[in-house]
Amino acid sequence: MNLGKFLTHIGIAVVTVLATNLSLQASDLGPEVVLKATYLGLRQVDSTRSNPKVRWNVPNGVSSPCGRVSGSLYCTRNNTIYITNQHIQMAYRYGDAALAYILAHEYSHAAQTIGGFTPKNITKIELQADCLAGFYMGAMPNVTFDQQDIKQIAAIAYQVGDYEFNNRQHHGTPKQRAQAVLLGFQASQQNGIVACQIR
Ligand SMILES: [Zn+2]
Repeated sequence: MNLGKFLTHIGIAVVTVLATNLSLQASDLGPEVVLKATYLGLRQVDSTRSNPKVRWNVPNGVSSPCGRVSGSLYCTRNNTIYITNQHIQMAYRYGDAALAYILAHEYSHAAQTIGGFTPKNITKIELQADCLAGFYMGAMPNVTFDQQDIKQIAAIAYQVGDYEFNNRQHHGTPKQRAQAVLLGFQASQQNGIVACQIR
């Protein structure tokens, strides 16, 4: 992930410090920087102004108004995204962009909810959230995702897919999920968010 444009928004002194640190770790940015920059970007491109709160690095089992957290989720009851520490560790097996995807996916559930366009079944909800996540990441003005980042994102989306067709919680197959997030990225450069409409 490249935060070049993000840095131009902060004071010069901070930029120098950050730029030095960033060049030292050319590979991956840490979770706090990734989540903050991605959240800022999401806020700018989300036309529903869903404005969810984010709690990150929470342990599995923490309680929420939507029940115990057993993985990253968006809770409609308090408009809050929970990102678990386990998911942060899983994301970094792919790289920092994979963590941006997890936040963007959960944020998309907030946009679906606040925007009032949540599809009717879980698979459609999840695939649309993947598409929206790709769209938002591709459109955000402060973070740039290069080809390597997009590969990481497709890889983690593929990994979280499932084949449980008879389970009400079926989120989409690995291929469907990777394709949905890539479709969103493509839409951000071409035909716009309409590509994520579920027909
Ligand atoms: Zn989801």
